[in-house]
Amino acid sequence: MSVADSSKLNKTVREVYMKLPQGDQVQVTYVWIDGTGEGLRSKTKTLDYEPKCVKDIPEWNFDGSSTYQAEGSNSDMYLIPCHMFRDPFCLDPNKLVLCEVLKYNRKPAETNGRMTCSKVMEKAKDSYPWFGMEQEYTLMGIDGRPYGWPKNGFPGPQGPYYCGVGADNVYGRDIVECHYRACLYAGVKIAGTNAEVMPSQWEFQVGPCEGIDMGDHLWMARFLLHRVCEDFGVVATLDPKPITGNWNGAGCHTNYSTEEMRKPGGLKHIESAIEKLSKRHEHHIKAYDPKGGADNSRRLTGHHETSSIFDFTAGVANRGASIRIPRQVGQDGFGYFEDRRPAANCDPYVVTEVIVRTTILNETDDHPIEV
Ligand code: ADP
Ligand code: MN
Ligand code: MN
Ligand code: MN
Repeated sequence: MSVADSSKLNKTVREVYMKLPQGDQVQVTYVWIDGTGEGLRSKTKTLDYEPKCVKDIPEWNFDGSSTYQAEGSNSDMYLIPCHMFRDPFCLDPNKLVLCEVLKYNRKPAETNGRMTCSKVMEKAKDSYPWFGMEQEYTLMGIDGRPYGWPKNGFPGPQGPYYCGVGADNVYGRDIVECHYRACLYAGVKIAGTNAEVMPSQWEFQVGPCEGIDMGDHLWMARFLLHRVCEDFGVVATLDPKPITGNWNGAGCHTNYSTEEMRKPGGLKHIESAIEKLSKRHEHHIKAYDPKGGADNSRRLTGHHETSSIFDFTAGVANRGASIRIPRQVGQDGFGYFEDRRPAANCDPYVVTEVIVRTTILNETDDHPIEV
């Protein structure tokens, strides 16, 4: 048995069963973040009606001792449905539902970043914060090497792969195209996709999304990616530096604006937000990967289109800075800016929460804000 074996099961046979009528019954697949803060889990329940919105889906539970989430002898955890999507694998009327996890005492689980994020977004809602996140990831073959890389040795140096075309430049496009369609079907707000600088590395963008929607849509996009990869016998990793040496790492650039930044004259509001961010660099770095900066320190070296993890820098069109103002935004005098620091494996709830705390709620290290 290898990780690719299930992908070789006869898909034509599967289609015969998937065409069977399902009557009035609807399959709802509950999706949640496990105790690692990076892994996703799911399980499915039959409803005898079609839920029209998330409120129609009942709470459920699972065994937290099997997901690194249990609290002592109380291993039952609650699944609270938060955001409903269409199911691109079982098709309509079946659903996917992203859930928050609560402990036995109904307090948020350690890796439930959504609860405080949604409170912060509620406080900041009059500023209409928008986000667009660029999810970079690497396809890994069953040998634990990037998909399509030679068994012994390495592909040619970086250069021809970014946005490339042709079998010698592009590794695994089928997966990217299937994932894109799955996102569109599901209702995930995917904005685009491109091949990345390292062969077998890709990116998709989600957004613009307002407030809590950013985390919901990106987490579901990740679930769809892992699920599509399953069908192809390939594994997607969000490790921020999967291959050491002269190969690009993987980030999750976070594009951000408020209503006042998006209007003529908005550049001064962008600059004021950057000024606030400059005073909280370490605090943000701690929030930008699940290991408090340890994962990102392998990536943010100051090379390969990154800034150093130790410095805060900002500039127009500068891809070696912590913060980049896109050239067009500099010319127009309004728009949005890009925080290039978050790692590919960041929690988008944590990232968007801390950006809003610093730039809208004016939180500082000395004055944390309770929500
Ligand atoms: P890059 O040039 O850095 O590679 P991309 O095109 O990959 O940029 O991603 C840009 C992201 O910015 C997209 O996710 C898009 O939805 C988002 N975006 C566009 N306009 C705004 C805005 N006003 N506020 C926040 N995000 C935005
Ligand atoms: Mn991009
Ligand atoms: Mn990129
Ligand atoms: Mn970018």
